[in-house]
Amino acid sequence: HNYTREDILELVEEEDVGFIRLQFTDIYGTMKNMAVTASQLEKVLNNECMFDSSAIKGYPNSESPDMYLYPDLNTFEIFPWRPQQGKVARFICDVHRADGTPYEGGSRYILKKAVREAAEMGYTVNVGPECEFFLFHTDENGIPTTITHEQGGYFDVGPLDLGENARRDMVLTLEQMGFEIETSHHEIAPAQHEIDFRYDEALIAADNIMTFKLVVRTIAKRHGLHATFMPKPKSEAHGSGMHINLSLSKEGTNIFQDSSDKNGLSQEAYYFIGGLFRHMKAITCIANPTVNSYKRFVPGYEAPVYMSWSAKTRSPLIRIPSVGGEKTRIELRSPDPSANPYLVLAVLLAAGMDGIRNKIVPQNSVDEDIQDMSAEQLEQLHLEALPGSLLEAVHELEKDTFICKVLGEDLAAKMIAAYKKEYRDYSMQVTEWEIANYLYKM
Ligand code: GLU
Ligand code: MG
Ligand code: MG
Repeated sequence: HNYTREDILELVEEEDVGFIRLQFTDIYGTMKNMAVTASQLEKVLNNECMFDSSAIKGYPNSESPDMYLYPDLNTFEIFPWRPQQGKVARFICDVHRADGTPYEGGSRYILKKAVREAAEMGYTVNVGPECEFFLFHTDENGIPTTITHEQGGYFDVGPLDLGENARRDMVLTLEQMGFEIETSHHEIAPAQHEIDFRYDEALIAADNIMTFKLVVRTIAKRHGLHATFMPKPKSEAHGSGMHINLSLSKEGTNIFQDSSDKNGLSQEAYYFIGGLFRHMKAITCIANPTVNSYKRFVPGYEAPVYMSWSAKTRSPLIRIPSVGGEKTRIELRSPDPSANPYLVLAVLLAAGMDGIRNKIVPQNSVDEDIQDMSAEQLEQLHLEALPGSLLEAVHELEKDTFICKVLGEDLAAKMIAAYKKEYRDYSMQVTEWEIANYLYKM
């Protein structure tokens, strides 16, 4: 969209909008919102809506917590699932201080800064995400479980597939909200699904991921299901990834393509990949920010474990899809949907730009499937592994001053402390696995 203030006033009137939600995102990528009635529209449009940010993760907790929400008019959208009289509309907002300056710890601000830096080098960055998720049953009290309707239906195929109907409803709702859905399909694990929407410029893509998750969760709930973007809900099944497809364009042309190259890639594309590899370990902390994320990085479930790239195989860390031409892109397969999409895209963009600026040549590609290789073969390739735990990833983030700068030193320090604490809390737990393995034996 390209809405003016007048367009919004008209839309709210014509569409009979009763409520307006002002959305933004905390550091963990959780959507937050504040609702006002349409009578407050003028105030909203004048950037006069204030909130106390002290209880929001990643915001100042004592000194000057009053923040203002500045709506991005182009993100105006009506929720199709809410009542159609006195409709509910939303804006995605930027967070500013009382003196009008943007809050540097705001996720959207950080991505905008990275986008601006790429634009100064002449590039527009296009991003196509592939979000996977599970649909699980809720129990009789409405509490989410990890039980799937498809387990029940495995031997006993009924006429009604709840997952399929929910997915259909999600796709239709997303389309009503302006999404262009390219494919939707059942994923490998029972009850696992994927819905892919068209690529867009980085900021819009991040906004879209936030809206996408809200829609998927909301529609699942209406079907009596719980949608989860948890990276690895079941130890014996595939995890959920959020593969990120990236390409650069200059004046409307995709500049990752070069048909004379054996992989179809331009010099910029190689440098971009080089930059991603240089910062990949620190990026992992942002792209895989939960304790659970690291349970997905195990062999046998199509998630990456080693840092390699290829235009030939299906599951390296960075894959070059064989589409070519205007559609040339690279696909990063490590991110998972627990990540804050604004921060992931910000660090990916910045790392890619670092690669181009400093002409960082990537390591050689590995074109045999590393999934099938023995330990000795892997050793010969000198491939490094992705960080094996949130703690390892945090230490990598701490070491990468470039990535910390992209996040802003203040926010980086907050995140490092928060993730260390999260890891400490987690490692103090005594798990069922330990009880099963040690209680009787020792
Ligand atoms: N679910 C797999 C993952 O953990 C990816 C499967 C696919 O290639 O779509 O990333
Ligand atoms: Mg998939
Ligand atoms: Mg993929």
